[in-house]
Amino acid sequence: MIPKKISLRPGLATETDFPVNADPFLDKYKFVGTELGRGRFAVVKQCVELSSGRTFAAKRLRKRRRGEDCRADIIHEMAVLELARTCPHIVTLHEVFETSSDMTLILEYVAGGDIFEQCAAVEDDEAFSATDVPRLIRQVLLGVAFLHDHALAHLDLKPENILLTQTRPPGDIRIVDLGLARFIQPDHRLHEMIGTQQYAAPEILDFEPISTATDMWNTGVLTYMMLKRELPFAVEEDDKVCLGISQFNVDHSPETFEDISSNAADFIRSLLVKAPQDRATAEECLAHPWLFADLVSPSNQLILASAEQPSGEETDSSEQISC
Ligand code: ADP
Ligand code: MG
Repeated sequence: MIPKKISLRPGLATETDFPVNADPFLDKYKFVGTELGRGRFAVVKQCVELSSGRTFAAKRLRKRRRGEDCRADIIHEMAVLELARTCPHIVTLHEVFETSSDMTLILEYVAGGDIFEQCAAVEDDEAFSATDVPRLIRQVLLGVAFLHDHALAHLDLKPENILLTQTRPPGDIRIVDLGLARFIQPDHRLHEMIGTQQYAAPEILDFEPISTATDMWNTGVLTYMMLKRELPFAVEEDDKVCLGISQFNVDHSPETFEDISSNAADFIRSLLVKAPQDRATAEECLAHPWLFADLVSPSNQLILASAEQPSGEETDSSEQISC
């Protein structure tokens, strides 16, 4: 359900019950290791909680950005993380600290880092195997379906925001970066130039209404990249990607799909569809045979049985676009 408190800015929560700590962060934590990553306004560093010795990721966000007070956006990100706390495939928020200039979100530490390198790998042994991908995409879909069940669209699903609990062999998925997530209200058409340009859905670039189907386009792009290690658009130069997407220049040729299974190709084709209403939903994708192809071999009957077991929890940065 959509929380009662939605701001005048469409799709944003205005309040959260999550406590904000005004004590100095370094009274309770120390930084260790190197920087984990950075996005549009955030720097993420590894840290250890002094009382427990547990490792976390500290995401520091500036409250003023481009001369504007953006505290409300951080409150929104906290509210979304709080709402998603029961979903095992979305990163967990542990604690929040605030100073006069910034807020620091203490997040579950996801040790394997994001999957950008695997999606851009030149060498085969650095990329995902064909059997890793359906297992990982199923976990992404469980996270996405959870958000959609709560009337939320993530709107920035891309390799940099999909993390693994361990790298080799690939562990489990945690979706991060819920700062651009928006509540989709049936009576309010949401138009925003939001997300990251090379992954943007056609409706974003055409300034048509955004919906949960926007995430399904991104899931199609993500799946394609995890399998093929390139973007699915037939463009000659990188700076023409936006044009490729808005003109729907998606390469659906048989040669493009010849090195992946027909089930995987069918799955991707059901998502890289220009009209948002014609794309498969997260629930429909979760029933797609590709996700089960490797689970139904006789030696894997047990995995299929556990995958089908309903679990209460499971059923249930980026730059502004300028193209
Ligand atoms: P932004 O909103 O600025 O894009 P993100 O939340 O996406 O910030 O974090 C930036 C990068 O930091 C991610 O792409 C990822 O590589 C790394 N990162 C973020 N959260 C975690 C985490 N909980 N554990 C480990 N690394 C993380
Ligand atoms: Mg990000």
